[in-house]
Order: sequence, then C-alpha cells, then structure tokens
Amino acid sequence: MLLASSTILPGTLVVEEEPIVVGPNQRGPPLCLHCLHPTPSPTFCTSCGHPFCSPTCREEGEEGHREECKVLGRGRKREEGKVKGWEEGGAMAILPLRLLLWYLTHPKEAPLVRRLKTHAKEKVTRDYWPASQHHVVDFLVEECGEDRWSRGEVTEAVTILEVNGFEIENFNPGGFRGFYPYIASLTSHSCRPTCHSVVDSSPPYTNRLVASRRIEVGEELTTTYIPLTAGTASRRMLLCQGWCFTCTCPRCEDPSECGAHTGSLKCRKCAKGLLLPSTTSSSWSCSCGHFMEGQEVGRLVTCFMDTVRRQAEEKRYNIKGWTDLVKCAGPIFHPQHEVMCEIAKWLLPIMGRGGGQDLATIRQKVELANPYLAVLDVVLGPLSKARAKATFELTDAALVLAIRDFEEDSIDVATLKTRLKVYKEKITEALHVFQVLGVQTNFEKMMAISLGKMEEQSEHMLDQLEEGDFE
Ligand SMILES: [Zn+2]
Ligand SMILES: [Zn+2]
Ligand SMILES: [Zn+2]
Ligand SMILES: [Zn+2]
Repeated sequence: MLLASSTILPGTLVVEEEPIVVGPNQRGPPLCLHCLHPTPSPTFCTSCGHPFCSPTCREEGEEGHREECKVLGRGRKREEGKVKGWEEGGAMAILPLRLLLWYLTHPKEAPLVRRLKTHAKEKVTRDYWPASQHHVVDFLVEECGEDRWSRGEVTEAVTILEVNGFEIENFNPGGFRGFYPYIASLTSHSCRPTCHSVVDSSPPYTNRLVASRRIEVGEELTTTYIPLTAGTASRRMLLCQGWCFTCTCPRCEDPSECGAHTGSLKCRKCAKGLLLPSTTSSSWSCSCGHFMEGQEVGRLVTCFMDTVRRQAEEKRYNIKGWTDLVKCAGPIFHPQHEVMCEIAKWLLPIMGRGGGQDLATIRQKVELANPYLAVLDVVLGPLSKARAKATFELTDAALVLAIRDFEEDSIDVATLKTRLKVYKEKITEALHVFQVLGVQTNFEKMMAISLGKMEEQSEHMLDQLEEGDFE
C-alpha cells in the first residue's frame, strides 16, 4: 500500500517502470515474437517454428529469442511454414517461459518478484485452468522436457502473470502484455482509483503511473485492474475471478455508484424512476416498489454485452448496426449504464465523421457522448486520456450542433455564447491532458490537432459574438 506523504496534483508522475518481460496474450492471432505486432505473412523461426513479421525482425530479435528458442524447439514439432496451434493456445507458454528465463538471469531480484500474489490455489480450480495446465505446464515440463523448473514453479509463473501482468496493446482479438513488478506491488485496486497507468505501446513499453486526480496527504495511491465502465455486479465478478476478492470500495457500496450509474436500469413500471442494485439483497429495486431479481438483470446485461462484443468483432464500422443497438438498449438501461458506455466507446469515434452529416446523427452523437463522459468524470477523474478522447468526440459534434441550432434560429445569441464557453473549457481541459500525458498514436495526434483548431475556432466565434457581428 502506498500513501501520499504530500498533496499530489493531477498529472503528477508517481513512478515509472520498464517491464521485465513482454509477450503475447494467451489467445489471439499470431504475433511477431520480436516486435509483437500481428503478422499477416510471417517468417518462421526454423528452429522452433514461431512467427516473426520479417527477416529483419527475426535478425533483430535473434539474441532475445535464443534461450526461449532452445526450449520451444524441443516442444511439439510444428509444421514448417505454419503457426498451427497458435490461436488454440500455442502462444500461451511464451510469456511464462520468458519470466522463468528472467529468473535465471536475475537471481538476486527473482525472489522479490516471486513474493507477489499469485492466488494459485484458487486459480487452479477455475474452469479455464486445464487449458493453462495443458499449453504451459505440461508443454514446458513434458513436451519440452524442461527440468530446470518444477510443475509448481511453472504454475506460479503463469498465475503471477495472470494476477500482475499488464495489458499493453489490445488487438481485436489478441495483443500483448508486460510485467511491471514494482508498480504491481505498490498499488492496490479501487473502482474510483486515484492514479492510472500510461503505457507506451512501443519499446521499452514504459509504464508511467500518473495521478488522475488530486490526492490528499494520507490518501492511498490506487489503480484499477479492470475496465471501470463496468457496473458493480460485473466488476465484483471480474475481481473475484481474476484477483480473488470482493471489492468494498465506496463506489461498490453505493447503489448509484457515486453517481456513475453503470449498473442502473430504467424502471419500466413508473417510467420515471431507476432500478438500482441493493446493497443488502440480490435484487434491483425502484422507489415505486417495482423490482427485478439480480439473476434476471445479469442475464439481460450479459445478452447485450455479448451482442456488443460480436458487433465490435464482426461489424465494427457498421454505424446502422450500432444505432439499432442503441434503440434496443436505450429504453432498458440508464444512459450511463455499462452497456451504453460500451456502445459509446465503439460508436462515438466512427459517428458523424467526414463532414456533411445530418443534424439527427450529430444530435444523437451528443446524446450518447454526454452520459459516457459523465461516467468517465466520476470513475477516472479529470486527467485521463480516455476522458480526453470522449471530450473530443463530444465537443467535435456539440460545436457543430450549437452553430446549426443558431443558424436555424433554434437558440439565441446568449444561449450560443453559453454553450460555446462550456465547450471551449472542455476542449482546453482535453488539450491539457494530451500535453501532460503526450500523444502516442496517429489517432491521438489527429485529436490533439483538431482540439487545437476547435479551441481557436470557438475563441474566434466568442470574440465575434462579443463584438456583436452575429446580431
Ligand atoms: Zn516484427
Ligand atoms: Zn525460434
Ligand atoms: Zn469497488
Ligand atoms: Zn419505478
């Protein structure tokens, strides 16, 4: 546990760390073992049969790959020119093997790292464990004939990574993870954390722990292990499965989740109230007396989340599919519910792009972005990229809407001024986040440039309105 010894302001860098090992996620398409990018037409290592994206990567990764190649090469014979079995679990042993090899080259640090929590006893009883047992433990010990590590030590490496590993890049599906033992040992979980990690997606994949809100003296520095837009029931389930504890943070103990409402449903009986989870029973209830059993709510949420996942995997750029989903989910869930947040996350970046958009689409985008941003405000605090990105999506549409409303005489000058001032403030805040945390991807670069332009534009319009040019 790490407590603040003096006031920490949002954006302050608390600690930074490079991973001791990086490697592919347990499932996903083949990745280059060196640069960890997807490899549509891979070059295969002639000794172990694992993929590299190019002969150059193969050469650059030679030294790092040497020791693991010796082990992997003794494993089941891979068909030349194919990464057969990678999707089915062939990649699962790579990261644990890299950690075990790291222990050998770092004998002094290894015992410290191995003191981190594993929850191995609980984990080996889980439904998914037989796959890890088969693809990692049996594979390394039996197929590769490794006698440097016992089955127990391999199990420990797998579970240490499961509990403490950190997602660096999330391809859809797949991606890769890194292990940052110092940050993992310092911070515990909260559903409204005071800090968050900013991880570089390129080598050396530095993880920077940054304060996302003001932290007072004696307050704990916390981070999150799970997606924060999930509702309490979903979060508790994820935390219980992955980290074996029941969260009792203030957000989890409050039916409205401190105003995040990511688990609230609309009441269909009184049509005004909300169905909120109870802290004493397993049901959701409204002040009008209507209630729904927790299991029923759970099934409903799972059904919608599965649909969202399928849409994201198969028809990610199909706007009509997403807006149809909004129509179905809208009458059931609170606008800030996790289902609505998940839809917003996928739909906002593709909605109303490319100019000449109809007013209805722009209005719908604003209606979707506002509650999403409200959730991020509560759960993430002011200084996070996710919030800055959502702010960009909102203000990008809201500015267009404000001007159109004014042109069509739906609003007067005073209302236009108020709206412009509010959005300009939000834009400045979002720009500040990118200045403090930096821009990484091309999409982030585009956002930062557009936000800069939007800030100028709104300032210019406000000046003109002050001078009365619009009257
Ligand atoms: Zn590569
Ligand atoms: Zn190899
Ligand atoms: Zn919690
Ligand atoms: Zn009601």
